[in-house]
Amino acid sequence: MAKVAKETMASTEAGSRHPNLWPPFTQLASAALPQRIVSGEGSLLFREQGEPLIDAISSWWVTLHGHGHPVMAAAIAEQAQRLEQVIFADFTHEPAERLGERLSEITGLQRLFFSDNGSTAVEVALKIACQWWHNQGTPRHQIIAFDGAYHGDTFGAMAVGERNLFSEPFETKLFPVARVPWPSTWWDDETVDEKEQSALQVLDQLLETPTAAVILEPLLQGAGGMAMVRPAFVQAIAQRVKECGTLLIADEVLTGFGRTGDWFACRRAGIQPDLMALSKGLTGGCLPMGVTMASERIFRGFIGQDPALTLWHGHSFTANPLGCAAANASLDLLEDNPEAFRGFEQRHRQHLEQLKRHPKVSRIRVTGTVAAFDLNVQGTSGYLNPAGPTIKRIAMEHGVFLRPLGQVVYLLPPLCTTDEQLERCYAAIETALAGV
Ligand SMILES: *Cc1c(COP(=O)(O)O)cnc(C)c1O
Repeated sequence: MAKVAKETMASTEAGSRHPNLWPPFTQLASAALPQRIVSGEGSLLFREQGEPLIDAISSWWVTLHGHGHPVMAAAIAEQAQRLEQVIFADFTHEPAERLGERLSEITGLQRLFFSDNGSTAVEVALKIACQWWHNQGTPRHQIIAFDGAYHGDTFGAMAVGERNLFSEPFETKLFPVARVPWPSTWWDDETVDEKEQSALQVLDQLLETPTAAVILEPLLQGAGGMAMVRPAFVQAIAQRVKECGTLLIADEVLTGFGRTGDWFACRRAGIQPDLMALSKGLTGGCLPMGVTMASERIFRGFIGQDPALTLWHGHSFTANPLGCAAANASLDLLEDNPEAFRGFEQRHRQHLEQLKRHPKVSRIRVTGTVAAFDLNVQGTSGYLNPAGPTIKRIAMEHGVFLRPLGQVVYLLPPLCTTDEQLERCYAAIETALAGV
C-alpha cells in the first residue's frame, strides 16, 4: 500500500538533515527539520537557535523533576566514578538492592526484574505471566487487552497494543489477543455508565475462557490518546480478574511515579496487580531503564530444582548501576516533595475551567499531572489528523513544545513546572486554537 518516496531525503529538504541519523516515529519526507538542543534546565530546553522552549510533554513523558537537575546529575556522576556497570548474574550491588527494597515497599510487589525500557518491561511481564501458568502445569493461552492500548514497539508489546498504522506491516507475526472496549471519559460525560457496563460485559464473556493475563494501562491510556477511565472501572476489572484467578498486569510505564497524582495509578485506583511494568519516570527520565515488579506468589512459581522452571530472560545492561543510582535519587526527590505531584491536578483544573467554554475544545479531562482535550475539527480522527501539527507549530512559535496525538491536545509537564510556565502553556494553546 505505502509507496516509498522516489526523491532522496536531501532533495526534499531545504536546509540539511544529518546524513547518519534515523529518528523515531518520523516520516523524513515530510517532517520539519529537527532543532538542535544544547542544554536543559527545569522545564526549559535551550535551543542552538531561538528562545528557550517549555518542554510541556516531559520529552516523551520521561522527564520527571526537570532537565539538568543537580541532585540527579550528582547521583549519576558519583555512581559513574564508583561502578558504572557489572554483570548482574553472579553479582549484585547496593544501588540495585536499595531500589528493589524501595520499589517493593511502594508497589506492594516483592520482586523486581530489571530490563532496559518500557517495551521490555511489558515483554517481561507477558513472559512471566505465560510461563507462570506453564510452570504450574496448567498452561493458559488467552491474553486480554483493551481497545486503544499502547504497550510499546517490540513484538510482544505490539501484539497486546491496538492494531493500527504502526503495527500493520507486522500483523501476521503478532499473537492473537482478546479485546475489551476502553470506556474513556471526560468532564460532563453522560454516557460513561453505559460504556463501562458494556465493557465489563465483554470482559465477563471473555473471562469464561481460561485466561493467562489481563493487561491494562491503569486510569490513563497514553499513546491511545490520553484516554482516561474512572477509578471505579479499574477496580471492577481488578475484582473480576481476581475472582476468576487470572493475573493482572498493570502497565505503569507512563502512569508511574506521580504522573496520575499518586505514586502509581494502581494506588490511586485502589487496586493491587500481580505484575507491574515501570520505566519512563523510573530514573527521573534521566537514563533508560525498565523494571517488572512481580508478587512473591508469582516469583515462587519459578523456583525449584527443575531448570525448566527458570525465567530464562535477561539483558546485557540488567540493573545498570547508573540507572539504579538515578532511580534512587528520583525516589528521594519524590519522597521529599510529594505535593509536586499530588497538587498538580488542581493547578490544571483552574486553567481547564477557562478552556471549557472554547468552541474548538471538547472532552476535557485531567488525571494528576496529565491534562487533555479533543479538538473540534474536521478530518480523520487519530494520529494523522492535520490539526495536531498546526497546534504544535503555533505553540512552538510561542515558546511551548507540544506534540498533539492527532486531534488530542495534552499537557504532561515535568513536576518542576512553575505556575508562570504552566500559564504560558495554556496561553500558547489558546493562541494555537485560534490558528486551526
Ligand atoms: C512509552 C510506553 C511504553 C513503551 O516504553 P518504551 O520505553 O518507549 O519502550 C509502554 N507502555 C506505555 C503505557 C507507554 O506509555
